[in-house]
Amino acid sequence: MTKDSLLQRIEGKREELTDLTCELVRIPTVNPPGDAYTDCARHLGKRLKERGFEISYHRAEGSPGDTDRYPRTNMIARLEGQSPGPCVHFNGHLDVVVAGKGWTEDPFAAVVKEGRVYGRGTCDMKGGIAASVIALESLLEEGIPFPGAIEFSGTVDEETGGYGGVAYLAKEGYFSKPRVDHVIIPEPLNVDRICLGHRGAWWAQVETHGRIAHGSMPFLGDCAIRHMSAFAELLEQRLYPALDKKQTKMTVVPEGAKKSTLNIQAIHGGEPESFEGMPSPCVPDSCRMVLDRRFLIEESLEEVKAEVRELLDELVRTRPGFRYSMQDIMEFHPTMTEGDAPVVKAVEEAIGVVLNTIPEKIISPGTYDQKHIARIGHLHDCIAYGPGILDLAHQPDEYVVIDDMVKSSQVMALATLNLLGVET
Ligand SMILES: [Zn+2]
Repeated sequence: MTKDSLLQRIEGKREELTDLTCELVRIPTVNPPGDAYTDCARHLGKRLKERGFEISYHRAEGSPGDTDRYPRTNMIARLEGQSPGPCVHFNGHLDVVVAGKGWTEDPFAAVVKEGRVYGRGTCDMKGGIAASVIALESLLEEGIPFPGAIEFSGTVDEETGGYGGVAYLAKEGYFSKPRVDHVIIPEPLNVDRICLGHRGAWWAQVETHGRIAHGSMPFLGDCAIRHMSAFAELLEQRLYPALDKKQTKMTVVPEGAKKSTLNIQAIHGGEPESFEGMPSPCVPDSCRMVLDRRFLIEESLEEVKAEVRELLDELVRTRPGFRYSMQDIMEFHPTMTEGDAPVVKAVEEAIGVVLNTIPEKIISPGTYDQKHIARIGHLHDCIAYGPGILDLAHQPDEYVVIDDMVKSSQVMALATLNLLGVET
């Protein structure tokens, strides 16, 4: 029977799957700045070309961060089936976040031990990329005739908004019908869960303005940091309690993310210390606060922005000298695929076969590239499903469990056949 032989073939590729993950981790695609993107894209492109895929490279020229030193190189691999039919697409982001401190292993050595691969990007999401590539390759090796097409894309900049990656390709029509019908993004949401979408995000900078003066005579100036602290106080008293009361019907995990959230990402104020920490004796004329607001499908972006603006306008009316400006940095709407969409059903069924369990259908607290596929590509049959453990993403000593990679690869292969309409 096709199904058993396919599952066995993937099980037999345990080592190959581990090796591919290690190869990818050893290409340090750290973003920012967007290092080694071309090397990583070409590594996958070369491999898939040898297996019969048609490969194209797409540099997102002019996108944020794109330079000749750091080109935003994306790769698409496509293989046509024997007859017309739907296209199943796997999309993985090649970039990883900075390693940061606290590692006990070299983050780019890809150390394999105790059934895990350790390294930056193992979980988020090179393990998922390797699992999907092995799934597609195994389908081909089985020699099962299929209609339609299968695609894989390795894209960049997901960690910084995806403008030079999926957003760019979506604008070029690569994530729309009739080219593509179903998309699976192997982000680390755990091997036995299906992620239907994500909350929205609004990043903004608020700046309070003051007047510079000598630090010994602050009464001659106007302190922008004191103005900012008045705003921070209002956030504490009014906005945080209000956000705490907003609860979504979306099945967001973890539990805390079912509420609306606000992170004060940074505060910058006053003159920078010029040398050895000696401060400049000045009244600060500027203070900036960077907000990271995550919102729910029940909220609109307009009301999210208005909540903050109302507090600032209140201070303009009530606090002498209060002046501010506000600037959007980034905004993404929440997105959610229907729980009974074809790709959801196909993956759910495959999880039942491989893991013998009914998957939880969740929503991610943070955004990922699905937003661009939904809003630019207008394609709504899209989910995230992959082997990594969500909590390990972006952490020191990040790892992926090899057994999870094998299982998720089997799920992806079975789901692909199902979506292409091949009987197993
Ligand atoms: Zn990711």
